[in-house]
Amino acid sequence: MESESKSGRGIFSSLPRGGNGHRRDSAAVLLEWAEEQRRAMVERQLRRRGIRDERVLEAMGQVPRHEFVPAELLREAYEDHPLPIGGGQTISQPYIVAQMVEALALQGGERVLEVGTGSGYQAAVLARLAARVHTIECDPSLARTARERLSRLGFGDTVEVIEGDGSAGYATAAPYDGILVAAAAPDVPAQLIEQLAEGGRLVIPVGERDSQELRLIRKIGGAPVVSKLGYCRFVPLLGAQGWEKI
Ligand code: SAM
Repeated sequence: MESESKSGRGIFSSLPRGGNGHRRDSAAVLLEWAEEQRRAMVERQLRRRGIRDERVLEAMGQVPRHEFVPAELLREAYEDHPLPIGGGQTISQPYIVAQMVEALALQGGERVLEVGTGSGYQAAVLARLAARVHTIECDPSLARTARERLSRLGFGDTVEVIEGDGSAGYATAAPYDGILVAAAAPDVPAQLIEQLAEGGRLVIPVGERDSQELRLIRKIGGAPVVSKLGYCRFVPLLGAQGWEKI
C-alpha cells in the first residue's frame, strides 16, 4: 500500500471544492459532516445496540474514523460494516470495535496490546481510553501506514506500532492489563494468557477460518476465566500461533 504522506493523496483531495474553489472550505465541510456522522454512528449503531460504557461511546464519538479508510471509501467511513483497507484486510465494523473495547473495561491507566493494527483505528480508540497502547501488525505496508497516520493524528506518544507476528503476543512490553486480538485465532494462544497481568482481560475471536465466537478471558488467580460475547467473523490471525497463509 502506498504511504499517504509520500503520495500526497489526503482524504481532502476526494472532496468537492467549495463554491469559491478553496480547499479550506472543503475541509470545513468534511469536519462538520464527519462530526454529524459520528454522532449518528454512536447513537444508532452503538448506544441503541447496547454499548453502555460512556467512555467508549465518547472515544468513538471523537476518533475521526474517516481518516483511517482509503480516500475512495471516505463516504462510507461511518457506515455499519467493515471496509477494505488494502492487502486483503479490513477496518472492523464500528459496533464490533465498540463491543471488543468495552469488554476490556478500561479505566484510563492501563497498558494494552492490540494484535492486528490494520488501519490503526481501533488503536486510536484504545489510546483515548488507556495509558499506553502497543499494537502489532504483520503486514509491513499496513504497519507503516498506520504508524504514520497515528503520528499525524497526534496518537504517536501513546501508541507504539510494531511490525511483526503478534500471534504469540508481544512479550517485550508485557504484562498487559488488556489484550485485544482483531483477527480470528484457531485457539487461544497460551502466550497471550501468560502476558496478561493478574485481573487483566483478553478479547479474542476463536473458531474456524470463516466464523468464530468472540471470547472474553479474564485472568483470575493466575487462571483464565472464559465468557462468550457472541458470534463474529474476522479475517484470520496468521503466524506461529495462527492460521497458515493461503
Ligand atoms: N484493528 C484494525 C483496525 O482498526 O483497522 C482491524 C484489524 S483487521 C480486522 C486484522 C489485522 O490483523 C490485519 O491487518 C492483519 O494483517 C492482521 N494480522 C493477522 N495476523 C496477524 C499476526 N499474526 N500478527 C499481527 N497482525 C496480524
